[in-house]
Amino acid sequence: MTFLLVAALLYFLPAIIGHNKRDAAGIFLLNLLAGWTGIGWIVALLWACASDPRVHTVLVPAGAAVRYHAPCGTLQPAGAQYCWACGRHL
Ligand SMILES: [Zn+2]
Repeated sequence: MTFLLVAALLYFLPAIIGHNKRDAAGIFLLNLLAGWTGIGWIVALLWACASDPRVHTVLVPAGAAVRYHAPCGTLQPAGAQYCWACGRHL
């Protein structure tokens, strides 16, 4: 049973590495459908390592009383001195 779990984790290693990448769906499909060929697994692994991280976009209405704190990805009230999420000085 442990062997099957380890084998499944190893087989889906490219999909696990690429789960937060921009091409996550393509990496997963290549891993799932062509991973058994060996070369498909290697290509999926290389793709997962080389793919750009997924970009998160935050739209803030003009004139809104909030501002974006990029290091932790949270919205802060306009007059705040410290980030409520990470505690850093703004
Ligand atoms: Zn923060």
